Amino acid sequence: MNLINDIKAVLFDIDDTLFDRKTAIRKILRGMKQKHPELFQEIPEESIFEAFCEADQMVLVDFNKGESGRGVRDKRSRRFLKTLGLPEEFSARITSMYIAAYPDVSSPVKDAREVVERLAEKFSLGVISNAFPDVQYNKLKGIGVRDLFQVILLSEEVGIRKPEGAIFQKAAKLLNVQPYECFFVGDSFDTDMVGAKKGGMKACWFNPDRKQIIDGDVKPDFEITTLTELLSILL
Ligand SMILES: [Mg+2]
Repeated sequence: MNLINDIKAVLFDIDDTLFDRKTAIRKILRGMKQKHPELFQEIPEESIFEAFCEADQMVLVDFNKGESGRGVRDKRSRRFLKTLGLPEEFSARITSMYIAAYPDVSSPVKDAREVVERLAEKFSLGVISNAFPDVQYNKLKGIGVRDLFQVILLSEEVGIRKPEGAIFQKAAKLLNVQPYECFFVGDSFDTDMVGAKKGGMKACWFNPDRKQIIDGDVKPDFEITTLTELLSILL
């Protein structure tokens, strides 16, 4: 049986699937340093970037354990400043500057817009993301695909997070299709692939770095290293 015969809807994760978050972070920090030399003084751009990524990775663990978005962001800013040897009292300023910068940053994953546009001609489209509304909508707008999605489910709005199967089932319901009629594309094995399979969807692992699978119980139905491969699988 052809695995994709039943597919009526294609759903995506956002960060590092459609939106290149690392590149965005780099651009945002560069802008912050240019605008506020008094804050970052002579610290090299690369050190600023590394400190932020390290803090970001650290708090992701807390977020995945269920800590609130607000708490996680504040903790990330504090950790970032501490690593750089800067006063932690700037943390609220850092957090708000970071969030405010997103509307001006466009950093799509290669071919994201073209692929989403092509798929929109044949399928209903949706997004499921474990993240915050104040930045996620701007990311989709920035890469020019916001209006192509019929359903955008953000964990912080619906109160359910990937890899819970319920968030995948809710998305299918909102798209008026069955979960088995959905094809989910995401870069995270633990949240996207595990969750999509739990929710009853076809799971396609976007794995540009060719990571090895750790959890042997879950097998993605497809694995791709570029987004354009979706066109040959689905069209
Ligand atoms: Mg992701």
